Amino acid sequence: MAKKQLSIVSVFVVLISSAFAQNGYWQQRAEYKMEVELNTDNHQMNGTQELKYYNNSPDTLKKVYYHLYFNAFQPGSMMDARSRTIQDPDPRVEARIVSLKTNEIGYQRINELEQDGNAVKWSINQTLLTVELATPLLPGKFTNFSMDFESQVPVQIRRSGRNNAEGIAYSMTQWYPKLAEYDKDGWMTDPYIGREFHGVWSDFDVKITIDSSFTIGGSGYLQNPEQIGHGYIEESKVKRLDSKKLTWHFIAPKVHDFAWAADPDYVHDIRTTAWGLELHFLYKNDSSIANNWQKLQGYTEANFSIVNDVFGEYPYKQYSVIQGGDGGMEYPMATLISGTGSFGGLVSVTVHESIHSWYYGLLATNENKYPWMDEGFTQFAQYYVLDSLFNRNLENPAIQAYKNYYRILKHPDYEPMTSHADFFHSNRVYGTNAYYKGATFLSQLLYIMGEDLFYEAMRTYYYTWRFKHPTPDDFKRVMEKAADMDLDWYFTNWIATSKTIDYSISEVTESKKNTEVVIERIGQMPMPVELLVTLNDGSTELYYIPLFNMRGSKSFNENDNATECSTWPWTHPNYKLTIPQKKSKIKSIELDPSMRVADIDKSNNKYPSANGSKKIYFEGSVK
Ligand SMILES: [Zn+2]
Repeated sequence: MAKKQLSIVSVFVVLISSAFAQNGYWQQRAEYKMEVELNTDNHQMNGTQELKYYNNSPDTLKKVYYHLYFNAFQPGSMMDARSRTIQDPDPRVEARIVSLKTNEIGYQRINELEQDGNAVKWSINQTLLTVELATPLLPGKFTNFSMDFESQVPVQIRRSGRNNAEGIAYSMTQWYPKLAEYDKDGWMTDPYIGREFHGVWSDFDVKITIDSSFTIGGSGYLQNPEQIGHGYIEESKVKRLDSKKLTWHFIAPKVHDFAWAADPDYVHDIRTTAWGLELHFLYKNDSSIANNWQKLQGYTEANFSIVNDVFGEYPYKQYSVIQGGDGGMEYPMATLISGTGSFGGLVSVTVHESIHSWYYGLLATNENKYPWMDEGFTQFAQYYVLDSLFNRNLENPAIQAYKNYYRILKHPDYEPMTSHADFFHSNRVYGTNAYYKGATFLSQLLYIMGEDLFYEAMRTYYYTWRFKHPTPDDFKRVMEKAADMDLDWYFTNWIATSKTIDYSISEVTESKKNTEVVIERIGQMPMPVELLVTLNDGSTELYYIPLFNMRGSKSFNENDNATECSTWPWTHPNYKLTIPQKKSKIKSIELDPSMRVADIDKSNNKYPSANGSKKIYFEGSVK
C-alpha cells in the first residue's frame, strides 16, 4: 500500500511540475486580415491589412514595429551593402541588388495607418516601420490596426520576388507588412539583410486577387475552391465569378508567417496520405522535371510518416511543396524549393524543408539569435530520415555534419554559435555553425543521454514547446529533466565557446593480472567517455565513464551492455582505468566506438595505434 500511495504522490508531482514547466512564459498574438490585388502587368500590389494585436506581455507598449522586407531589394539598402562587403559573398546575391532598375526594385509603402480608428505617427527606415501608438497598449489588452499599403514585387534576388531563374512568376515570401515580435527579450526589429526571421503567433485570413490564369499554392487552406478550380477541386464543379480575375481566399490558423507562390504554368497534384494529410505539389509544366516531381510524392509521404513517429506529430491538415525556383526555404505549412536538379537532391531538399515544419514552423525559436536551433535540428532530423528512407543504416547518420564542423575549425574567422546570425563575419562560418555544428550538437546529445531516451525527450520538447518560442535554456531543461542529468557543461561549452574535444589512449600497461589504460583529455571540452575493449577471442566489453558534472549517467538501450566506471572529474587531465584482463589477452582498445563524439584527432583513439605509438622511444637497455 505504501508503494501505491507513493506512486500517486509522484504522479501528482509530475502533473504539478509540468503545469508549471513554463512558469512565467507569455507570448504575443495577432490576427491578420489582408486583401491584396496583384497586377501581373507591372508587378505592383495594393492591399489592406486589418491587424488585431493582443498584448500578453506584462509591459505597456507605446510603439510597435513592422518589417517591410521588400525594401531590402533596393540599391543602397543594408542588404545590398552587406551582400557586397561580407567576406565571402553569396554569389546568388552579391552585386545584383545595386543594379536593379526602378521598375525592378522591391518596395512597400504605407498609405494609411490607424489604430482603433485614430491616426498614428509612423516612419519608415529601410525595412523597418516604426509606429507610435495613439493610445498605449496595456498588458492583457488588444488593439486594432488598419493599414493601406502598396508594394512592388522585386525581380527575384533571394527567396522572394518575380521571374527567377527557373521562370517562376511570383515567389511571395515576406511579402506583406509583418508585425515584429515582442517577447521577454524585447522587440525583434533586426533590419533584414537576407538572413533569418522571427514572427508573432497569428491567425491569417488572406484574400488574393490575381489574373485568373495563375495557380496559387501557399501556407493556408483554400476557402473557396469551387470559385477557383486550379486543381483544388474537380473542374466540373467550378463556378467562377469572373473570367479575368480570381480572388483566392486562404485561412492559416496558428502560424507565424504566410507565404505563397503563383505561376500560370503550375501543375498542381494533391496526394492524401494514409492518415489524411493533404500534400500539395506545385511545379512547372515541364517534361524535364515532371517525372522527378511525381516520384517525389511518395517520398514526401514517407518522410512525414517517419518524422511524425520520431519527432512528434504534424498538427496541420495540409502541406505544400512548391517549386519556388530558388534554393529551398521553409514557411509554415509550405516550402518553396528549386524544381530542377537531381532526384536525390530534390528528395533531400524536400525532406529538409518539410522538417522545418517542426524546427521553425512549430518550435518557433528566434532564428536570428539561435539559428542552430532551427537549421541544426532540422539537419539532424534530415540525416535520420534520409538514412531511413534509403535504408542506409549508418552507425552515425549525422557523420557528414561532423566532417563539415572539423573543416570550419581551421577558418581564421571562426566564431562560436552564439554570434547573432546577421553578424557572422563569414557566410561560411555562419552556415557551418548553424547547420553542421548544430546537427553535431544533437547527435552528441544523443550519445550523452542514450538513444531511446533522447528521442523520447525530443518528442517531449516538441509537445511542450510547439506553437511557442523556445530558447536554448527551455530545450536544455526538457532534456535535463528527461535524462535526470545536468547538461550545463555541454550546452555552454559547445554553444558559447569554440573549445574542441580530443581524447586519447595515452598508455596501456600491464599491472599484475590487470591492464591499466590511461585516457588523456587533450581538448578543452570534456565529454563522457566510452571505451570498447576487444579480446583476442573476439569478445568485447564496453566501459563507460560518466563525467562528474553530469550528476547522472547515460541510459543505455536494453541490448547494449556497458560497464559503468567511476565518474571523471574533468579537472584531472588523465584517467587511469584498470581492466581486469591481462594485457596479452587484449586485442584492441577503442575510444568512442559509436563515432558520436566530435573528437578532432582520431589518430590517438585506438590501441594499438594504427600509426604506431605517438610517443617515439629509443629502446634503451643495460649495457
Ligand atoms: Zn534549413
